Amino acid sequence: MQNLLKGIIESNKIYTKEGTVASYIPELGKANKEDLGVCVVTLDGKEFMAGDAEKNFTMQSMSKVIALILAILDNGKKLVFSKVGMEPTGDSFNSITSLEVKHPERPFNPMINAGAIATTALISGETDEEKIENILSFTRKITGNKFIAVNEEVYRSEKATGNRNRALAYFMKSNGLLEGDVESILDVYFKQCSIECNCRDIARIGAMLANDGVLPWSGEKVISREVSRIVKTIMVTCGMYDASGEFAVGIGIPAKSGVGGGILASVPRRMGIGVYGPSLDNKGNSIGGIKILKELSDELDLSIF
Ligand code: GLN
Repeated sequence: MQNLLKGIIESNKIYTKEGTVASYIPELGKANKEDLGVCVVTLDGKEFMAGDAEKNFTMQSMSKVIALILAILDNGKKLVFSKVGMEPTGDSFNSITSLEVKHPERPFNPMINAGAIATTALISGETDEEKIENILSFTRKITGNKFIAVNEEVYRSEKATGNRNRALAYFMKSNGLLEGDVESILDVYFKQCSIECNCRDIARIGAMLANDGVLPWSGEKVISREVSRIVKTIMVTCGMYDASGEFAVGIGIPAKSGVGGGILASVPRRMGIGVYGPSLDNKGNSIGGIKILKELSDELDLSIF
């Protein structure tokens, strides 16, 4: 496996020249376009890494997976899916039209920005600090990494420029879809997007989901099999935004990307995979990351279909 990963990094390095690093959140624009890393965590707890697997980047939209899990754990699936749908959208992750014109009663799904703002609003905690602490401590548990923390520069950068997310959130508030103070909810959302991680952290989350909610390295059950199934299913249908269909056909693995360049992938009953490559395609997905997952899927026959 180690050699396979090393070879895959070498053969796909060339693709990091394509695409661009996200810059609409200015701090993300500082990433090194040529970085490329991968980590695989198998269900017996073995870990394999190659390339820039230990480099830190921010979770961005991969944090939507965590927000969805916590929203369900705190409120039950019935309430969560009364506030946010479970249907894919052919629109971009921060689309305003899909929320207003097509689906004003609730956001399409928890993997687009509007849906994630809605799930974040449902996470328990009396104050913003308590909510983000709950998110951080759960993330530390499912990554086995006690150093997981918010990258303050990225958080401030996102808060300063996040007007599109503000528009989505205030629109939902005007339709009675959000309870509580909008700026507070957005603050928690911006912080969760700015949680710093590396390929190993996200591969471990993928492995936990692949293992039906049990942490492979300790045997601890952190979520039920049902919640892990719901989350993986929504990752398949919505995790790569408006490229989810193509990704399912070509690669066939439940996955969630983030504009920081990470992709968190979970191969049921086999492994978690974390990839990092900050150069993105026009849908906001890591170009190098997708290439790595494609090669791994072909080599190891990972498609679930
Ligand atoms: N923090 C980013 C945003 O809200 C997350 C988007 C993403 O990763 N696709 O715009």
